[in-house]
Amino acid sequence: MNRVFRELLLSVAVFCGIFYATLQVDWMRVLHLSPTIVGDKLSEWAWDLMSKSIREVEADDVCLPIDTLMREMCLANGIDTASVHIVVDRTSEVNAFATVGRHLVIYTGLIRQMDNEAQLCAVIGHEVAHLQLGHIQSGIRRQAAINVILILLSGNGSGQLNEIIGDMVSNSLTRAKENEADAQGARYLHAMHLDPLEMATTLEKFESYGIFSYLTDHDDSKKRADRIRKMEFSDNGPYRQILSSETWERLQESCR
Ligand SMILES: [Zn+2]
Repeated sequence: MNRVFRELLLSVAVFCGIFYATLQVDWMRVLHLSPTIVGDKLSEWAWDLMSKSIREVEADDVCLPIDTLMREMCLANGIDTASVHIVVDRTSEVNAFATVGRHLVIYTGLIRQMDNEAQLCAVIGHEVAHLQLGHIQSGIRRQAAINVILILLSGNGSGQLNEIIGDMVSNSLTRAKENEADAQGARYLHAMHLDPLEMATTLEKFESYGIFSYLTDHDDSKKRADRIRKMEFSDNGPYRQILSSETWERLQESCR
């Protein structure tokens, strides 16, 4: 039997063994653990593995404006700022996602495609809404366990990590949850005195990139945008600009 095949067979056997053992034993009871402890530990473990493939941007020109927008969103919407951890990843891909452990990842490729801060806040708001509405936590723990095993078995192939992260998020999200996150994100924009209809514009603008949802197709994003346009928002005074024009331009420039 050739070596590659033998190793593959062993991997599959180990995977099945671990998976079978996981299903057979009430580990929570055996180890006297609560579901929260297991969820949190698993989340941090999965995040540790994931974050190895992230090329985190640490430049002030990027981090400070992102932190400012995030803080403004949290303050205006009664969200604990310290409870969400936001990271900018230097990748040309146009994407952003929320994941286990209340971590939020935004790609530089996405930031540079944004026309203005309200559109960037629409993306952040959509992802924060997933966290606040419990969308990520609910479906992802089981998925995280399976993926951690897969990562270990694949010898931590970093090329596959992004795909695995994508699968983890998409498997935990449904169309209904996407619609809820769109609406909640638009309400976040409104509360921070930004135009909530930028959520609709952003959904249409980026449908071709598949952000906001791995389920998105053309019709779907048009419908999602229309749903936002049908929402009613109270008069909330004139819209404001949070970042100065220079700060916004430096942010865009640094993401190129
Ligand atoms: Zn989403």
